[in-house]
Amino acid sequence: MDTLKRFIHYYKPYRTVFFLDLICATVISLVDLAYPQILRTSVNTLFTKESSVILRALLPLALGLLIMYIIQSLCKYYVSYQGHMMGAYMERDMRQQLFDHYEKLSFSYYNTHNSGQMMSKLVSDLFDIAEFAHHGPENLFISLIKIIGSFVFLFLINWRLAIPLAILVVFMFVFSMSQNKRMQATFLDNRKKIGDVNASLQDTLAGIRVVQSFANEDIERKKFRKSNHGFLLSKGANYNCMGSFMGWNLFFQGMMYLVTLVFGGYLIAKGQMDPSDLAMYALYIGIFISPIQILVELTEMMQKGLSGFRRFLEVMDTKPDIKDSENAKDLHNVKGLVSYENISFCYADDDTPVLSNVSFQIPAGRSIALVGPSGGGKTTICNLLPRFYDVTGGRITIDGQDVRDLKLKSLRNNIGIVQQDVYLFCGTIKENIAYGKPGATMEEIIDAAKKANIHDFIEELPDGYDTFVGERGTRLSGGQKQRISIARVFLKNPPILILDEATSALDNESERHIQKSLEALAKNRTTITIAHRLSTIRNADEIIVITEKGIAERGSHTELLEKDGIYAHYYKMQFEGLETDGVME
Ligand code: ADP
Ligand code: MG
Repeated sequence: MDTLKRFIHYYKPYRTVFFLDLICATVISLVDLAYPQILRTSVNTLFTKESSVILRALLPLALGLLIMYIIQSLCKYYVSYQGHMMGAYMERDMRQQLFDHYEKLSFSYYNTHNSGQMMSKLVSDLFDIAEFAHHGPENLFISLIKIIGSFVFLFLINWRLAIPLAILVVFMFVFSMSQNKRMQATFLDNRKKIGDVNASLQDTLAGIRVVQSFANEDIERKKFRKSNHGFLLSKGANYNCMGSFMGWNLFFQGMMYLVTLVFGGYLIAKGQMDPSDLAMYALYIGIFISPIQILVELTEMMQKGLSGFRRFLEVMDTKPDIKDSENAKDLHNVKGLVSYENISFCYADDDTPVLSNVSFQIPAGRSIALVGPSGGGKTTICNLLPRFYDVTGGRITIDGQDVRDLKLKSLRNNIGIVQQDVYLFCGTIKENIAYGKPGATMEEIIDAAKKANIHDFIEELPDGYDTFVGERGTRLSGGQKQRISIARVFLKNPPILILDEATSALDNESERHIQKSLEALAKNRTTITIAHRLSTIRNADEIIVITEKGIAERGSHTELLEKDGIYAHYYKMQFEGLETDGVME
């Protein structure tokens, strides 16, 4: 019920259209109901022998019917156009809300939800909801008016004949309800199976490069065929149900005609019924039967619409873990003193702490480097600063202010991040760089590109800054993409910088190029650098070695070498080229 209440809420902005829609639906049904009545009343006139009487009666009859059908058609136009539009408006509203909400959800949500499912919520679920939103009330209305109206007329015309028909209807209703349950189950199964098909498709397409490079197309095709065929079988069960429902429905309808003819004939013979009423009966049975079909379709639509709406609510009810606290403040005139004070952290789905009691400070404008084996928690430490996750113990401060007391937007505006994976949006190079500062001028963009050492390369492209980099920027090399992402951060110009393995995916040559840009970027900014290649962090003010057990060593490069511990060991290994790639594992 709560679901329905929340659903109705979305009608509110469009209630005028909604009520007009229902009024039009009423008119459409009433006109259908009126025709047999009009026919019935004019029968006596039309059956007189005098042709002049008939001719005189025809004109007003034709005019009356003409007006009636014009009104009905206009109503139909309104229902089909504005009724659908109402559904489309509601769909738009919900989709926008969902999008806005998706943007707010935290990293922890995205760790456990797949983008294929989210897409299907944004597209197909909402479409089902819109269909139901508009057809639901309207069809229910039309059907009920027709069923009740025609039954009332059946009783009025001849109550004796209506009684056996009423009994048949009760049978039909009970039968429909039982069939309906079976049908619902098959509809549900249908949705699950098409979900499997989509998931399989999405997974293969997302990983198509891997599929092709392993030449595993056959395996993927088999997997897809399985889910594709599963959907077919599920539809088969569904159509079987529908077929038997339709068949029985038709049989009941036939029985109604049969009873009308036989019992009606009997009543006529007994003088308890007028022969002309028999024809009316047949017409009203037709009107009476047709909405039953519509009602069945409606239950399917409702099932789809409401289950889609429930899935929609599920997302809308997921609260972002990370949001502004009540009296969150803006960060002003950031100097950039970053301090981790005794922090601990564990990921939600996992009780073992990734970090416990870690403390360090970075004076404003200075740099710190985190090194250590993969899985030690370096990225996690970085993610805590812009509050992608919140610490579970201790606190992190910027210029003495707890990051949790700051407005998220303001906090994140002051932190620039360069990561190993670069995501370029669909669009031009210019737009991608400008992402660092919406509304940046062309001069600013070029200046940032120059600082990131990518300007010359861009200039040489046929379209220059207007080169389209396409989905995921596939047309650029890893190093070029990385420099675009560095240009973005130059443009953003944040006082605090996180470089998380920014060069790890690159070959030595590109790394050397980018290293220079990164050094320029880090100048006068508080910087946390994570790097596997130790040569890149030699000049950091402090180096912290993080292992799974926490901070193992800390100090400057020279101090750590003198200490002759873990760092010195790895450094020597890399320096002496024992490990060709120079990776610390
Ligand atoms: P590093 O960057 O030093 O390689 P990470 O910070 O990425 O290490 O990971 C530290 C630990 O946290 C690892 O044991 C890893 O498995 C775990 N971890 C990382 N990300 C998540 C996550 N989203 N959910 C659960 N555990 C995670
Ligand atoms: Mg990492």
